[in-house]
Amino acid sequence: MGKKIVFFCIPAHGHTNPTLGVVRELTGRGHQVWYYSYLAFREQIEEAGAKFIACDEYDAQQKITPRKAARVGKDLALSTRILTDTTLSLDAKVCQDMERLAPDCIVADSMAVWGKAVAFKMNIPFVSSTTTFAFNRCSAAIMKQSPWELFAMLLSMPGVNRNIRRLKENGFPIRNMLDILQNDENTDTIVYTSAQFQPCADTFSERYAFVGPSIRPARKRIKKKREKLVYISMGTVNNNMLRFYKNCITALGRTPFQVILSVGSRIRAEDLGRLPENISVFSFVDQMAVLMEADVFLSHCGMNSVNESLACRVPLVLCPQTAEQRGVAARVAQLAAGLPLKKKTPGAILEAVNRVMDTPSFAENAARIAQGFAKCSGAKGAADKILLVCGER
Ligand code: UDP
Repeated sequence: MGKKIVFFCIPAHGHTNPTLGVVRELTGRGHQVWYYSYLAFREQIEEAGAKFIACDEYDAQQKITPRKAARVGKDLALSTRILTDTTLSLDAKVCQDMERLAPDCIVADSMAVWGKAVAFKMNIPFVSSTTTFAFNRCSAAIMKQSPWELFAMLLSMPGVNRNIRRLKENGFPIRNMLDILQNDENTDTIVYTSAQFQPCADTFSERYAFVGPSIRPARKRIKKKREKLVYISMGTVNNNMLRFYKNCITALGRTPFQVILSVGSRIRAEDLGRLPENISVFSFVDQMAVLMEADVFLSHCGMNSVNESLACRVPLVLCPQTAEQRGVAARVAQLAAGLPLKKKTPGAILEAVNRVMDTPSFAENAARIAQGFAKCSGAKGAADKILLVCGER
């Protein structure tokens, strides 16, 4: 019989995209999917075959000032408050909905705490969907992030404890912040990367499924204008980096390379001044189409961008902005498929791009990781995992 599965996600392309193939796979096999997300993602989610439910009006992040919004992800106390506010404001509605729907399983992005919280509260089988690396002591060490340091930092913030208390008072079985941020060995978890790329994959229990990245196809092929193509993007979230883009233009404006710069929707083309002939700037590109032709990707190291780059065998210049991105960058550097950018100056940018371009081992190591991705079970494996958990009911 068809199963009823509910997805929860945060409003980020990077977290939503990998789940869409899984939704398609599940609905294609005759199961019903409800997807709690945000209006900006409605079309894609419905196209994948799910029923869409908007969380916009409940989301605390949508209600803060743009200045504060820029701190989310960097400022842990603020991030916790936003997660708590959103979880609590969605609580009544989601609990009612779940009561009515009686789903066989909840699948929640690791950051969509409200999905995990409601699954625990109502005792509904749960699968965590992790678009970054899975987190434990071993992987944290490689990613140079100690969970214990994180823990101590979180506890030292008065706001964090207050918010945890608010969650507890509302019936969420949460002892501390780590319960939210980290999955234990007994949580079924889909990780959208390969066991080879995941740091310390063998230290995770068999409940973790490393299904590989879900790489969407390019919409259409692009034609390279010069022999070598450099692609630059700081992703879709923390991409308001005018000064850095200007430095990239200064660094690469007089090179023989073709340069494609994706700057996001907050930068105006006129702010970048007159562009050298070899550089084109876009607010958004068909990233897969660009990567299929690119020779080097200067990236913020969002997990999806890195996965896509490696799947296309494109080595990277690593320019992470957040702790999570620093973790991903550290793993790419460890496998020598990319080179960390030392400074954001034009000189350092040019030097790093040239080095990655001129050292074949970077591309060879990227190709090795691509081969590992190709062997993964993908959306099909993720759907199998979810159905297995559904069956436990
Ligand atoms: N992306 C795209 N075109 C762009 C910039 C980004 O298609 O011009 C896509 C990219 O392919 C990736 C996602 O947006 O799938 C960004 O996710 P990532 O995890 O790399 O970074 P985030 O935006 O979450 O920081």
